[in-house]
Amino acid sequence: MSTTSRVRREPPRFRQVAVRRVELRSPRLTRVTVAGPKLEGFVLDEPAASVRLLLPEPGGRRPPQLTWNGNEFLLPDGRRPFIRTLTPRRFDAEALELDLEIVIHGGGAASAWAEAATSGDEVAVSGPGRGYSVDPDASSFLLAGDETAIPAISQLLEVLDAEVSVRVRIEVAAPTGRLELPQHPGAEIEWCELAAGATPGDALVAAVRAAEPTAEDQVWVAGEAAAVQRIRRHLFEERGLTRSSVHVRGYWKTGRSESD
Ligand SMILES: Cc1cc2nc3c(=O)[nH]c(=O)nc-3n(C[C@H](O)[C@H](O)[C@H](O)COP(=O)(O)OP(=O)(O)OC[C@H]3O[C@@H](n4cnc5c(N)ncnc54)[C@H](O)[C@@H]3O)c2cc1C
Repeated sequence: MSTTSRVRREPPRFRQVAVRRVELRSPRLTRVTVAGPKLEGFVLDEPAASVRLLLPEPGGRRPPQLTWNGNEFLLPDGRRPFIRTLTPRRFDAEALELDLEIVIHGGGAASAWAEAATSGDEVAVSGPGRGYSVDPDASSFLLAGDETAIPAISQLLEVLDAEVSVRVRIEVAAPTGRLELPQHPGAEIEWCELAAGATPGDALVAAVRAAEPTAEDQVWVAGEAAAVQRIRRHLFEERGLTRSSVHVRGYWKTGRSESD
């Protein structure tokens, strides 16, 4: 048995960018547009992909220098930097600008950064990581997620063929989380509010159950990790769906920072 630890290939470098615009999409979702010449060559060709956002250290004004230790990026003193995963919502290759939409949930580095972001603030982004390949033969989709999935669901609504039917279920932690989504002629959108004191994902799990997805549907789900696990089990064990028609991804974990 080998005793050497596995060394991972270094992921793409972070590109330094600066905030160009900030727009409140709702009191719970802030769109931050970052831009800069380092975005030259960035290619976004799949919806629901991911980027990694490197934030300044608390009190800092620009993203720190990082070193790759064979497994992860670290600060020069060995601590973990503030790196968060987000959806690259829109990329404009001419203007070299990238929109990120960040949930203001009141308790994390990315949420706090987005809440305070102003033009000129420096951060860095890397990616994009793989997105969702839309089945061109599917005629019916169920898209379900919490507020962190709103950027990805919005992109999917923009790219899905006008002829397909799309059922959308989105859980919001407060009524103010609702916002206008891209128009799709076949879309039927249901917003589900999380009841006071409920576990994140409870309303989403109930909404997916009520939607009664069948083998005809392509199902895309993202949100709180334990909630999407419950949905995954329901889809496979109770509704008998197959792996090829289901895409489920945990986007965050209750009680756990992405730095952990
Ligand atoms: C592929 C992918 C795409 C994603 N796209 C987006 C996106 O476009 N926009 C977006 O906002 N998020 C997105 N996320 C989720 C995001 O990475 C996490 O929510 C992340 O934890 C936020 O970082 P933070 O610094 O605000 O909180 P952290 O420091 O990571 O967490 C601090 C505390 O806040 C809690 N927390 C984290 N997120 C939430 C939340 N949404 N609601 C309530 N409590 C929370 C944690 O459980 C923890 O207790 C995506 C995740 C993945 C994997």
